[in-house]
Amino acid sequence: MVLFHLQWKAIDTMKIITTRHEMVKMVTDFRARHKTIGFIPTMGYLHQGHLSLVKRARAENDVIVVSIFVNPTQFGAQEDFASYPRDLEHDEKLLEGYADYIFYPSEKEVYGHGETQGKVYLNDITQCLCGISRPYHFQGVAAVVEKLFRIIRPHRAYFGQKDYQQTVVVRRLINDLHLDVELVVCPTVRESNGLAMSSRNVYLSPEERKQASVLYRSLTLACQMYQHEEQNPQLIIQKMKELIQTQTLAKIDYIDIRDAFTLDKKVDFSKNFVVALAVFFGKTRLIDNFVFRSSNYETQG
Ligand code: AMP
Repeated sequence: MVLFHLQWKAIDTMKIITTRHEMVKMVTDFRARHKTIGFIPTMGYLHQGHLSLVKRARAENDVIVVSIFVNPTQFGAQEDFASYPRDLEHDEKLLEGYADYIFYPSEKEVYGHGETQGKVYLNDITQCLCGISRPYHFQGVAAVVEKLFRIIRPHRAYFGQKDYQQTVVVRRLINDLHLDVELVVCPTVRESNGLAMSSRNVYLSPEERKQASVLYRSLTLACQMYQHEEQNPQLIIQKMKELIQTQTLAKIDYIDIRDAFTLDKKVDFSKNFVVALAVFFGKTRLIDNFVFRSSNYETQG
């Protein structure tokens, strides 16, 4: 007897959906057929970091939805919303064979005429780290993620560790609003020189890109100090700072060490914590982090 194993596939070729109405209809249908939905929210201009999330979702769900939406509410007035890189054709090519649906809505489709800042108050975790130089950023992130979750109703949502604070905010959002979504955080994908992949890397000059590898090296240094039993966060931060400052084009926004779950400044090195940083190279602000998991000295960057 020959057994044919047919892998379930939502559709033969990937489809782009632009309206909330059609997306809701699709999702309702899949849910009625007990199919699991994996969702990856993005702002497009996709790279291998994004694709790693999509591949993970593909392995764990029946239907894969990737949203591409440059969310205006998470950009400050002086930030790069207008010039943020966009290339739908390139994104489509990259996702072909991995995603079933691209949700590509207009601003009106996502926000309607309604409120844009979300209902949850996330102050303790939104006003530290990146929230200091980007005070409204995470309110905007929370607003759009909530809206996308309500439209797509995923079983699992995939986020990158690269945007660590964002994962903490999304976890809080899911808990506070009792949303029935499993958050899956995936490791940071890096260039060969250690630089975390980011859509914004396209802004970097060759020299800035070269110098920006110092961020990864500074996080590795923190890791080494920790492994040599250094318990003083300020000393680790100072050494990282000195290393980053050897690069002439680097301008440090922040380097910080925080509790991995609460982002509290009070860190117990026997528990999980995160070393996070934001550094400008020219006009480009890059972020990166390592998470230290105490159980077996495991680190994840
Ligand atoms: P963005 O399009 O920048 O909003 O990113 C969409 C998702 O991809 C977020 O969850 C990011 O954390 C994730 N992501 C971006 N860059 C990387 C990377 N280098 N490695 C892993 N995930 C990433």
